[in-house]
Amino acid sequence: MRTKYVAGNWKMNMDKAGAVALASELVEQLKGVDNKFMIAPPFVYLDAVAQVVKGSNIILGAQNIAATENGAHTGECSAAMLKDIGVETVILGHSERRYEFYETDKLINIKVRMALEHGLDVVLCIGELYSHKVAGVTEAVCEMQVKGGLDGLTKEQLAHVTIAYEPIWAIGTGKTPTPEEANSIHKSIRASISNLFGADVAENIKILYGGSMNAKNGKDLLAQSDIDGGLIGGASLKSETFVPICKYTV
Ligand code: PEP
Repeated sequence: MRTKYVAGNWKMNMDKAGAVALASELVEQLKGVDNKFMIAPPFVYLDAVAQVVKGSNIILGAQNIAATENGAHTGECSAAMLKDIGVETVILGHSERRYEFYETDKLINIKVRMALEHGLDVVLCIGELYSHKVAGVTEAVCEMQVKGGLDGLTKEQLAHVTIAYEPIWAIGTGKTPTPEEANSIHKSIRASISNLFGADVAENIKILYGGSMNAKNGKDLLAQSDIDGGLIGGASLKSETFVPICKYTV
């Protein structure tokens, strides 16, 4: 059985004291809890949060990486630099990067490979716009993003990849698909992965749901057969709203 994975994407929020305080609360409150956890603070607070989560059951994640190795790339932060300060995982392909920063499947794929080559795990975000949903092409969009993002990877590398299905119309809006609708998309994503990498890889890969998940709707979403956890934005910014999702048990 796939264990649940709950990840918090802090985006561009908080100050240093707040980041350290929240990480400390999470370390305390998630001690001994069985699921898998990750938090992704803003870059400038990663080092401070790394000191807090060291030795705990919380994985440190970054929200992006450079597509290139170290060198003359003003304003970028490389996979090697993140590894160096204790980052273990990176969120890639988030819709805010796809749509605000024009990241394409090709660029995302370069970053996915870069992360894996440097020993970082990846949470690859995919998901449809509302117009895609209305047009009935959600599955096709997700399949294209899975194919593009994972292009050229080996089966072995897939062991270090998690998918986050995030319908873009659900992010930060308070709207969600029904648990059954979300589960059906998760099943189709798993089928795409099975076609590309084989049934064994598809069976083992975790597919998280993201988009306005909270403690209330989280229970029903996480109870679905193919929803293996959550990527949480807004509700990950306070321990009171994040921890109850983390403590989900079957
Ligand atoms: C996200 O942006 O990954 C996300 C899921 O945000 P929220 O939970 O705020 O909808």
